[in-house]
Amino acid sequence: MRTAILTVGTEILFGQIVNTNAAFLSQELNNLGFDVMYHYSVGDNPERLEELIHLAFRDCDMIITTGGLGPTQDDLTKEVITKAMGDELVVNEEALRALKDRYEKVNRPMTENNLKQANLPSSAEILPNDQGTAPGFWLEKNGKIIVSLPGPPREMTNMFNKQVRPRLKRLQDSVIYYRILRSFGLGESKMETVLLPLIDGQTDPTIATYAKEGECSLRIASKRATSDEAEAAVDRMTKEVLDIIGDYVYSLDNEELIDVVGKLLKDKNISVSCAESCTGGLFAGALTGIDGISQVFERGIVTYSNRAKMEELGVSASTLEQFGAVSRETATEMAEGLRAKTGSDLCISVTGIAGPGGGSEEKPVGLVFIGICYEGKTDVIKTQMRNVNRNWNRNYAVLNMLHEIYKRIK
Ligand code: ATP
Repeated sequence: MRTAILTVGTEILFGQIVNTNAAFLSQELNNLGFDVMYHYSVGDNPERLEELIHLAFRDCDMIITTGGLGPTQDDLTKEVITKAMGDELVVNEEALRALKDRYEKVNRPMTENNLKQANLPSSAEILPNDQGTAPGFWLEKNGKIIVSLPGPPREMTNMFNKQVRPRLKRLQDSVIYYRILRSFGLGESKMETVLLPLIDGQTDPTIATYAKEGECSLRIASKRATSDEAEAAVDRMTKEVLDIIGDYVYSLDNEELIDVVGKLLKDKNISVSCAESCTGGLFAGALTGIDGISQVFERGIVTYSNRAKMEELGVSASTLEQFGAVSRETATEMAEGLRAKTGSDLCISVTGIAGPGGGSEEKPVGLVFIGICYEGKTDVIKTQMRNVNRNWNRNYAVLNMLHEIYKRIK
């Protein structure tokens, strides 16, 4: 069903609040298999609001509005919808009773303008509001549906979940099933290029890529008559996608890399220690965010200075002098020193140039060496990261470390 979301409120147009209602409704409606065609936002202005209702109904069968249901002068949504739909406002007994009950409960007198909230279009079904005073409503007229919800997000989401979702499910003529794949190491444009044969001319399932902080996600979605059919179509497409980019995909379930790695380390009982230079403990911090990681995480050492690298890890002075702190050789000795010290199954080291200062032609900002001692051998991975800023470089180094671990233990 073609649907428009219409959010009412001058604050939205002023940029004083972020329109989270539109985002929430869009996600929910899409998941339920409704096609969201438009987002409209309008201030507290009756003429423009009415115009938008007519405009949206030219192309859509349903409009969901939020905001402007309250008791004050500028709350006009109900009046305008009633007029636009050729209905009339009447006192709704259920709404009136709920309103009086609510005021009695809190022992406060009800002002005249509050009574306004008990008025609803005569053909509307009330949507009770157990989080606030303004009820919403569901109005079907001349083959069109308009659903009006309050503006405060807590009231809106609660009413949506309890009252609107069950009604929408009854209207549903199709189901959307989707899966989000997460990948690391393949940029968005590269991913799109290699998947072009699948993406090109796609109708169902659809494939959409989006990039996020050094990672790339892929949404595979299918809309079918039943959820079984949709799921089967997504499964088939997932297989085709994995045939092409399987090496880069670490989750079929929209999980974070840290969660995937943490779970693998725990499940396989692989003990781990880290020695960090440029990331200054970020890796250990990320790991200790995982519930139950104490089962496998032995220790994290921040060895920032040359002295710390020598004292804590036994990196030799001559290595540091000859190759520098940011080098393949230092990363190797850091990881091997850590292994000698801790005996952990997997020892990982990192040394790099986070910037913005400290880079050179030979060793530019964003250069990182990661050392890993695992299963009797030491690997060093050299990565030249895109230099965005110091914070990004450090976080991206952590993602690289996690991904190197993932590749070895998956
Ligand atoms: P009430 O009378 O209970 O305030 P209402 O339906 O009249 O409800 P509005 O007055 O339009 O709603 O909005 C109330 C508050 O809800 C706003 O001040 C704002 O904080 C929040 N709000 C409204 N619309 C949105 C939106 N689209 N996204 C996020 N928050 C919103």
